Amino acid sequence: MSPEAKVLEALLREPRLFPPPEHFSQKANTQETELFKIKDPEAFWGQCASLIHWFKPWERILEWDYPQARWFTGGTLNVSYNCLDRHLGSFRRNKAALIWEGEPGDSCVLTYRDLYREVNKFASVLRSLGIKRGDRVTIYLPMIPELPIAMLACARIGAIHNVVFAGFSAHALQERINDIGSRLLITADGGFRRGQVIPLKDNADLALQNAPTVERVIVTKRTGHHINMQLGRDLWWHEIMHTASLYIEPEPMEAEDPLFILHTSGTTGKPKGVVHTTGGYLVGVTMTAKYVFDLKEEDVYWCTADIGWITGHSYVVYGPLSNGATVLIYEGAPDYPQPNRFWEIIEKYGVNIFYTAPTAIRSFMRWGPSYPARHDLSSLRLLGTVGEPINPEAWMWYYIHIGRRRCPIVDTWWQTETGMILISPLPGETPLKPGSATRPLPGIEADVVDEKGNPVPPGKGGYLVIKKPWPAMMRTIYGDHRRYVEQYWSRIPGCYFTGDGARKDADGYFWILGRVDDVINVSGHRIGTMEVESALVDHQAVAEAAVISRSHPIKGQAIVAFVTLKEGFTPSPELAQELKEHVVKIIGAIARPEQILFTPELPKTRSGKIMRRLLRDIAEGRALGDTSTLADPSSLERLRQAYAEEA
Ligand code: ATP
Ligand code: MG
Repeated sequence: MSPEAKVLEALLREPRLFPPPEHFSQKANTQETELFKIKDPEAFWGQCASLIHWFKPWERILEWDYPQARWFTGGTLNVSYNCLDRHLGSFRRNKAALIWEGEPGDSCVLTYRDLYREVNKFASVLRSLGIKRGDRVTIYLPMIPELPIAMLACARIGAIHNVVFAGFSAHALQERINDIGSRLLITADGGFRRGQVIPLKDNADLALQNAPTVERVIVTKRTGHHINMQLGRDLWWHEIMHTASLYIEPEPMEAEDPLFILHTSGTTGKPKGVVHTTGGYLVGVTMTAKYVFDLKEEDVYWCTADIGWITGHSYVVYGPLSNGATVLIYEGAPDYPQPNRFWEIIEKYGVNIFYTAPTAIRSFMRWGPSYPARHDLSSLRLLGTVGEPINPEAWMWYYIHIGRRRCPIVDTWWQTETGMILISPLPGETPLKPGSATRPLPGIEADVVDEKGNPVPPGKGGYLVIKKPWPAMMRTIYGDHRRYVEQYWSRIPGCYFTGDGARKDADGYFWILGRVDDVINVSGHRIGTMEVESALVDHQAVAEAAVISRSHPIKGQAIVAFVTLKEGFTPSPELAQELKEHVVKIIGAIARPEQILFTPELPKTRSGKIMRRLLRDIAEGRALGDTSTLADPSSLERLRQAYAEEA
């Protein structure tokens, strides 16, 4: 057998198949609609558009002038109207829209009527400061109710928001403000993280030293510590809200008007300001929230992503609220004060749907199953993951220890650029395979192709592409339309290029292998980082692994694995040897790591994704590339030293 075929066999060796539980399928939202019988993508999306409220009906579903899509042209709508006003005519007006818990343990509930009032008032504040349709507004807030309130208020008056994750530095904030030319910055005195105060206002002051477009700063009080308020520029949220009007007419927006700009995570390089629109985006996130998460009227839904990432935009704020769901928001860290905090929250509020990231799941595994075991998690009925490929072992752990073998898991593949989930199981329909995002959703045509755009046979690795436009797709990179065309629509003829590598198996299931830039080439054989990492994580001692290649005089490239261990295991040369053998056993000699480096932590973006390009820089002894999105720069320095000592 050729080495590649062996790698493939190792990957597809995953024999476990989990059909949807009958109790789930019988009541699944997908059962109650004819929608999924529509096979033509355009007709399908046309039907989905009736999930939202239009002030003026659209005239055409899609105008497609490659690579420019215009969805639902002629229609007008308002996103805040869809997320708020339209729920007020029913019992939903007194239903919890947001259940919020702060890290110190404080909490509050906002009903739809409450949220509507706060959004209207804040929209009136924005208006009174002269913010109008099309203006850019930067939001730099922790996970507190003011964050979705500010976003929805922007949407109400047609201002374009740019949320900057509160974990970012002053420099990163400044770059993003200047990239889009914001007129207004909305921030807080600070936020809480692991019991510490993050000095947001201090960061903002630093950022504004060189951000000339910002005229005003609105500051909400969260931590109460002393900050500087600059006279004439800075305003307290609670003071200006006093005089605000209770109602602001929602601006009728064109379907193609921008709703927000959000920068990508920066895992592979410099972040891009992705522009999303109003109509197509809302249709896409409303449909997927309803059917991928199977949202029910009485559910408590919790997506743990920070609202500063696309997952938070689409599946904390817009998708669930457009569906009138009850959304839980937690401000802080999963291990504060103890590693059981998430499970405590699930038990306390009776959470039904829980959506998190593989990086979090691998932390839970590392801390051990005793933390979730202390809690009653029987309210859970559906689990989800997003952000990185999930190693099959992590999937199984999630399934057993959190879902208690009862809950389907939706492994949702998508990107900042796609706006909405594109590849995912439908939980009442799709049999699951641990580690696979399964199949493209209805209305989505995805494939795995070679450089020329020809489909590769089942089992062979290639580029993941999307072949037809979809409503929530990005329309441009802010200020750099050429890069939009070049990066996404020029690499593979006729397709949207995702930047991810994948394989399809004989059942048509998609297996994401990692980023194309990260693919390893050993003696001419292409191996996905995901495959070697999953083999390492399969070993009982390993919590997390990041695999890269470095140049090698003979093989061309050699595999280097950075490994973190579970609690109770210690690094040793014997263990390193054992791990190498484990990889050989699972995948084959071709994938044997040349070197295993134990490390207490891996370099990650602030959204928790492993940054393999920085590990490559370390292994090659190069200067480090862009580190502005790195969560903890000092850890990288330690890692670099450890690597130098080892070598
Ligand atoms: P940048 O584009 O700036 O380098 P990024 O790609 O990490 O950053 P995001 O848009 O946050 O920015 O992440 C999208 C990427 O995350 C996808 O392209 C894919 O690599 C990965 N991803 C997301 N969900 C999944 C999933 N379910 N399975 C596998 N990979 C996933
Ligand atoms: Mg990306």
